[in-house]
Amino acid sequence: MFFTSDNAGPAHPSVMQALMDANTGYASGYGSDDGMTRVRAMIQEIFEAPEAAVHLVATGTAANALTLATLSNPWDTIFCSPMAHIHEDECNAPEFYTGGTKLTLVPATDAKMTPDALRASILGEETRGVHGPQRGPVSITQATEKGTVYSVAELQALTAVAHEFGLKTHLDGARFTNALVSLGCSPAEMTWKAGIDAVSFGGTKNGLLGVEACIFFDPAASWEFELRRKRGAHLFSKHRYLSAQMEAYLTDDLWLTLAAKANAACARLITGLKTAKDVEIQYQSQSNLVFFDAPRGLHQRMLAAGAHYYVTSGDPDSGPADEVLTGRLVCDWSCDHAAIDQFITLLTQ
Ligand SMILES: *Cc1c(COP(=O)(O)O)cnc(C)c1O
Repeated sequence: MFFTSDNAGPAHPSVMQALMDANTGYASGYGSDDGMTRVRAMIQEIFEAPEAAVHLVATGTAANALTLATLSNPWDTIFCSPMAHIHEDECNAPEFYTGGTKLTLVPATDAKMTPDALRASILGEETRGVHGPQRGPVSITQATEKGTVYSVAELQALTAVAHEFGLKTHLDGARFTNALVSLGCSPAEMTWKAGIDAVSFGGTKNGLLGVEACIFFDPAASWEFELRRKRGAHLFSKHRYLSAQMEAYLTDDLWLTLAAKANAACARLITGLKTAKDVEIQYQSQSNLVFFDAPRGLHQRMLAAGAHYYVTSGDPDSGPADEVLTGRLVCDWSCDHAAIDQFITLLTQ
């Protein structure tokens, strides 16, 4: 019963096989390998963006920080939700890699910013002339850190506000494919057709060892990104092993299949959670993670019985048994339905 994170799961066997297959002979380093040429073409085709710049890095934090650095000036502020990974979970890497850009937090109750809140936040900045931060890019997480998913119309409404002010837009897609299969739209519809300028296209949480693609729909950003990646020590010399993972991911719809599996596992979990007494689901999850409220005593019983997940509010070990705490359950592509059923049986007994 492992529900701690989708990065706690294994890489898919065909990704491991692709690494073995790539592991013969010689290949140019630093992204000039033939595999990268194929990956770039695949991503351009999948996104219906033949001009897009595509580069690979090994972590989502690097993808976000380097992409945002390319989209902003050091004196800018980046608009994002208070739950954004770039705010809560990247140890100020965006601020560091941008050379001092700050973050402006846009109120978002279910981790989804609204156009009105975004507009109000943008209007609140760049009001102090040379003394204050200048308005910078808007970063949107899809699927969000709370498992919710923006509809295409919601994305369009947000990017329209950003573009009204001449601001660039970034999509943190660590769980891009979970959102995509949930919406059933095309990658183009969820990105550039909806006004997104650059994407951190995640792979690690969805079956890779560690690769994320940074995609810029305006290829003019490409060279600056490359310089920032090298200077930021994220250009891999034996780059073929990054390319091989991404190529396997995009071959035969593996990326879509794995995300659909993770989402289906989470949907099964949600169905079960709804039958449990003293349990309340938080947020309208539409992807592969779900938050639920339950008394400390129930969390203690589940954790003692061998369930693995994070309690995200408070200490599960000490305090009143009836105090309500929030737990987070994440399903990856390999999540076993038997483990889900076992979890629900324990929860409801
Ligand atoms: C996991 C995650 C990332 C990337 O995290 P790394 O640990 O650096 O790979 C980025 N954004 C979101 C929303 C995430 O959940």
